[in-house]
Amino acid sequence: MSKPSSGSRRPDTRIVTAGRDPFSQNGAVNPPVYHASTILHRTVDALENETQAYTYGRNLTPTIESLQTAIRDLEGGEHTVLCPSGLQACTLAILSAVSAGDHLLVTDSIYGPTRRFCNRTLTRFGVTTTYFDPNAGAAVEKLFRPNTKAIFVESPGSLTFEIQDIPAIAECAHANDIAVILDNTWATPLFFDAIGHGVDLSVMAATKYVVGHSDALMGTVTASARYARQLKDTHHNLGISVGPDDVYLAQRGLRTMHVRMRAHETAALRVARWLEARPEVARVMHPALESDPGHAIWKRDFRGSSGLFGVELKPCPEKAVAAMLEGYELFGMGWSWGGYESLVITSHPLRTAVPLKAQGPLLRYHIGLEDTDDLLADLEAGFARLNEAR
Ligand SMILES: *Cc1c(COP(=O)(O)O)cnc(C)c1O
Repeated sequence: MSKPSSGSRRPDTRIVTAGRDPFSQNGAVNPPVYHASTILHRTVDALENETQAYTYGRNLTPTIESLQTAIRDLEGGEHTVLCPSGLQACTLAILSAVSAGDHLLVTDSIYGPTRRFCNRTLTRFGVTTTYFDPNAGAAVEKLFRPNTKAIFVESPGSLTFEIQDIPAIAECAHANDIAVILDNTWATPLFFDAIGHGVDLSVMAATKYVVGHSDALMGTVTASARYARQLKDTHHNLGISVGPDDVYLAQRGLRTMHVRMRAHETAALRVARWLEARPEVARVMHPALESDPGHAIWKRDFRGSSGLFGVELKPCPEKAVAAMLEGYELFGMGWSWGGYESLVITSHPLRTAVPLKAQGPLLRYHIGLEDTDDLLADLEAGFARLNEAR
């Protein structure tokens, strides 16, 4: 067996092969886990001039390098760094692109904790944020100021799942030398080619579909050539470092990500269509549904959809929603998603740029890898409880 030339292969093959070199590690299929802070040098020259590939555990180990290489290969970017959480990957991408006195544009549909970072931490460093309508597309240009340095998009948005016109946003951003940062956690590079659509810093909460088993946190940021140096420096200077066992779990999860994601996709679409037909449901927020306002752009730009979507119920009392959710046998109530199991949460999206159009309670479902018929039966029993508790 000789080493595959990963760059020319299709994405599914690259997910399996990228960042692995069994015969450099005694033939073992998976990379060994290096637990290392101190790394020794044989010569003073190596010690002083960093001529070795590995110099200190915080900088790089073969374990970290292996996952980094695999993600960079999948993203098609210039450089990838790992962070101990998805949120840190979001904040690192922003810190890599802005300086004191700069202005940042952020989609109103942003992941809540990223918004909190902008409002509570970035402000202390003299960076101001303006939130914009996720449906703005190229019209976001009207919000550009002379000091706008970055625009943070998320498509589909957290909780409400609006699809953004990223090529249009990237075109006007680049004409003004503004960096485009995308939180691509929902689609992953498998279903949305961020760098290929003009994104400069592609962020992923690897906690979700890469790890895929609800047992580790991890974030990744991948930069285009234009922002690689700034990303690398900022990551290094902040002292960001990830634990080798978590890297191993992410690495292990990655190898089956494409298979899991397609199973999540099929099951979620079936459940979403079923929910759409329910009398208790006002609308289902899932861009792969023909009824979704973001469907045309999703179809143009994406290669698939994942297992996470939103539901707006017709107005009903809180206690009826609680009765429905608390009685589920297969849908657990918990933060995060992307694992093999089904989840549900109530959601209360915060909006400051455009008011949210919702009359009834909002829910977010993650459709797991259980038998879909069993999931539908669980959901059906849930609606019976909801109707009884009204
Ligand atoms: C979960 C999530 C994050 C944060 O990831 P953590 O690993 O939980 O910090 C960031 N963005 C999106 C869209 C997420 O869903």
